[in-house]
Amino acid sequence: MIRKISISLFLFLLIDTSSAQAQNFDQWFEDDVMRVDLMFSGTAHESTYAFSGLKKEPHYSGSRTVLVDPFDYGDHKFEVSDAESGTLIYSFTYCTLFREWQTTMEAQTVRRAYNHVLRFPWPKAAIKVEVFDRSWQGDFVSSWSGHFDPASIYADPSMPALFESVDLEINGLPEEKIDILFLAEGYTENEMVKFLADAERSAGYIFSEEPFKSRRESFNIRAVKSVSKDSGTDIPGQSVWKNTILNSSFFTFGIERYMTTMDYASVCDVAANAHYDQIYILVNTDKYGGGGMYNLYSISAADNLESRAVVIHEFGHAFGGLADEYYNSAVAYTDFFNLEAEPWNPNLTTLVDFDAKWKSMLKADTPIPTPQEEKFNAIIGVYEGGGYVAKDVYRPMIDCRMHTNDAVFCPVCADALVQMINRFSGQ
Ligand SMILES: [Zn+2]
Repeated sequence: MIRKISISLFLFLLIDTSSAQAQNFDQWFEDDVMRVDLMFSGTAHESTYAFSGLKKEPHYSGSRTVLVDPFDYGDHKFEVSDAESGTLIYSFTYCTLFREWQTTMEAQTVRRAYNHVLRFPWPKAAIKVEVFDRSWQGDFVSSWSGHFDPASIYADPSMPALFESVDLEINGLPEEKIDILFLAEGYTENEMVKFLADAERSAGYIFSEEPFKSRRESFNIRAVKSVSKDSGTDIPGQSVWKNTILNSSFFTFGIERYMTTMDYASVCDVAANAHYDQIYILVNTDKYGGGGMYNLYSISAADNLESRAVVIHEFGHAFGGLADEYYNSAVAYTDFFNLEAEPWNPNLTTLVDFDAKWKSMLKADTPIPTPQEEKFNAIIGVYEGGGYVAKDVYRPMIDCRMHTNDAVFCPVCADALVQMINRFSGQ
């Protein structure tokens, strides 16, 4: 019996020591960024990864104290471990457009390829990188791994898209702040004055609303003057095609207002010009639309009348991992959620494990599910409909910034955003 206790105590100490080491930036990392480029390909039913290049970029901007992601949001995760000891030294969670595409009808019959980029601080010794995809059951399953050596002669330090970056608002060191980087998309050389004004106005939108308003000093804002040959963006449904630096387009997955870029490698090439934790792609158009994917990028029209609402909403997706709380639109997804598992997003529940969500924020007398009646308008509850699904998926409030353009973030979304701000600003 005593013997058993001493073994488990030893194991506990061992685990405790390795997690303490994992948070020691200077032991494992240097200031630059190691960038591993991958290609996804697949259908709705399977996917494969292939390595496509190793790069060395400047400007590591993330935390130096929280190197292992504490939230485990997202559809994907990658982990970096020291090759010799196996110690986990870094992890990062994120979403991809490829994964969204896998839920469309097209993916049932077509095989497609998308590029992707993994970035992490430059390691001092050889490492293993492992990519995990979230399974239908909700856990992360290993899908690819590779070994990389910082001494590799193939780590390419060239900058294929060199552009000037501008500091718009600096409140502190990159590793202690959330660095938002605006990229110009569809702005010609002559439109750069307009771009900087658009970027400043859009940043102002984010900080016009809580919880960002009170935490503005936790952010830095920069902009890259990335020049496009043509002005505007692609609108395939109107036969409008433009030559732009980030290859953005409306009509993603057949949805007119869904504006994205499938060319993430080009986005990262341009973003490498400055420090960033969050990429905001500002598109030089007045046509309504945009998109936001967790820890990938936000993108929206610079000049639409609804731009303020869209900018804040998309940043909620990309920074906070918040899901759309609407469910009544013609979004072209099928089987978006497994109703027998909890979605990873903090603002949706299937009631499978509601304790892990916002249950503690409910008043004792609030019914679960909560009727969508006027008397519950400002009450945190469990309202049916959310995440493009009308039945068996629930959201925290009748209205929210993640539901309609006229609302502000509900308390559950605001709380999730505050936790994320604290994670990246070391609080
Ligand atoms: Zn909400």
